[in-house]
Amino acid sequence: KNETPATEPASTSEKTEKEESKKPTQETKVKKIGVAMPTQSSQRWIQDGDNMKKQLEALGYEVDLQYAEDDVQAQVSQIENLITNGADCLVVAAVDSSALVNALAEAKTNNIPVIAYDRLLMDTDAVSYYATFDNEGVGRVIGEYIEEKMNLKTAADEGRTYNIEFFMGSPDDNNAVFLDNGIHKVLDPYLESGVLVCQSGQTTFDKTNTLRWSQETAQKRCEDILSGFYGDGEHLDIIASAFDGLSYGCSAALVGAGYTPGEGWPLITGQDAELMATKNIIAGTQAMSIFKDTRVLAEKCVTMVQAVLEGATPEINDETTYNNNVLTVPSYLCTPVAVDAENYEEILIQSSYYTADQLK
Ligand code: BGC
Repeated sequence: KNETPATEPASTSEKTEKEESKKPTQETKVKKIGVAMPTQSSQRWIQDGDNMKKQLEALGYEVDLQYAEDDVQAQVSQIENLITNGADCLVVAAVDSSALVNALAEAKTNNIPVIAYDRLLMDTDAVSYYATFDNEGVGRVIGEYIEEKMNLKTAADEGRTYNIEFFMGSPDDNNAVFLDNGIHKVLDPYLESGVLVCQSGQTTFDKTNTLRWSQETAQKRCEDILSGFYGDGEHLDIIASAFDGLSYGCSAALVGAGYTPGEGWPLITGQDAELMATKNIIAGTQAMSIFKDTRVLAEKCVTMVQAVLEGATPEINDETTYNNNVLTVPSYLCTPVAVDAENYEEILIQSSYYTADQLK
């Protein structure tokens, strides 16, 4: 029994021949994607790099993945090398968002499209798309977590007040500014009403930022704050931290100042749901973190790479928020999720982000 019409094989092979003859040889050449990541010192970027490489290679691209170890000049050189080595597209998560203007201009001159990954590339027209998380949303979720867990809405009526200190991100990372805005949109009313008290007085981003999101810098600043403003029996209740690494530094400073895990240990926030932070959440020394599913971010970014190289249309869900001082970059914003002791199993283990064994 042969259900295939007799004409089909002939027309299929004709079509294949036609298609093949249309393809210029360079189109069959494997396309190279240069991926420039900021650092391997924090776990999330290692996962970002791994996910990007895996997903791009699965589509047949060749991937050159570079890490700059938070060295601005090293990243500039890496991007220049990726251009020289014939990258067809660049994906960049900047160490310093404004320091790549010349390198990116060179990419543009060489007709190499650039996608901003997680961190916006500032002050340049050489960027086609931006894949990231809702960065102000990250700050809002952290603020709302504090608001809910400390019952701030009823605190004024019940005469409760809390001491809070802020540890924000790097001033050369646009995400840090958005996060700071988000957190303050939620918490400023409580600072104004006196429910939240910042004994150091350091509430604004010019005072609370942490260059390169450095754990050591946060630890030092926290030590100074504890000895300078909490020495005479004043108790610190909340540490609004913008990143797990900063939270580790603050925890070390707290222990150094005589705080002990358990009763009286401050509510400490974080970001990235790093493995160590998640263990700390289970142990109770960090209250929460922000889970950013880097698998989803990579997926969105890969569709952007395909779009610029193959004329496809990537999914965009924001065309108004991310202006880099030159243009507003079409973006896809993934959703940040608060993770704590109550939901980490569902959010992190059931989604196979971590195995239960890894968290032991
Ligand atoms: C990212 C955060 C990360 C921070 C420090 C930011 O740009 O959005 O997820 O915690 O950098 O690496």
